[in-house]
Amino acid sequence: MIKIENLHKSFGKLDVLKGIHTSIKEGEVVAIIGPSGSGKSTFLRCLNLLETPTKGQIWIKDKEITTKGIDISKVRENVGMVFQHFNLFPHKTVLGNIIYAPMKVKGISKADAEKQGRELLEMVGLAAKENQYPNKLSGGQKQRVAIARALAMKPEVMLFDEPTSALDPEMVKEVLAVMKSLADSGMTMAIVTHEMGFAREVADRILFLDGGNLIEDASPEEFFSTPKSQRAQDFLEKVL
Ligand code: ADP
Ligand code: MG
Repeated sequence: MIKIENLHKSFGKLDVLKGIHTSIKEGEVVAIIGPSGSGKSTFLRCLNLLETPTKGQIWIKDKEITTKGIDISKVRENVGMVFQHFNLFPHKTVLGNIIYAPMKVKGISKADAEKQGRELLEMVGLAAKENQYPNKLSGGQKQRVAIARALAMKPEVMLFDEPTSALDPEMVKEVLAVMKSLADSGMTMAIVTHEMGFAREVADRILFLDGGNLIEDASPEEFFSTPKSQRAQDFLEKVL
């Protein structure tokens, strides 16, 4: 589904990604972990062109997205993203948030967008909240709306950048449960997370980034029980 070759990203003189090679299969769930500042968000943002890679190539479904003249909005339609801080439209209701892009970008009728939006709200357990405004929701509810909103574009890949890091502990579970059910449904997912239990349980693979390099690319069993690199061992000692 995704192939990444020699991906580099610099901001001025700062080399943030230093040549990443990897690929993600259809239906695979990949957890991206590593210390703060290691380039995890930048890596994820390159996958939907929120950042423009400095060098290297990315293919999504056999289509190179790093080629000149690519339609960035088409790429983003197909690669949904969920952020730490939800980024909901504050002046739109829950359902309004969800139907906006399908109507505006895809030209879907309001009736169809609402029908699909209600199904998605059902899926994330928020059918009763469709007319609420975001500021009336808990953090966990906001994040579940954000997931439903991203899914409304029917993406083939979903990216999550620390989706539970801004949540109170009691709300983390409800968001992880939605992500788990999405994973079980066969969605291709790349998730930056500090939830090691979740990564171990749900991910098919762990990518460990450090200093802009992909240091380990391993199964969860392998990574958590016998990490090969000293850096991963040090990291795990701190977080587990
Ligand atoms: P992580 O998500 O692993 O914490 P990031 O990808 O956010 O790391 O950041 C990696 C490095 O790139 C950090 O040193 C950060 O300050 C820098 N960085 C990220 N985005 C920008 C930007 N837009 N401009 C300049 N530096 C950036
Ligand atoms: Mg980050």
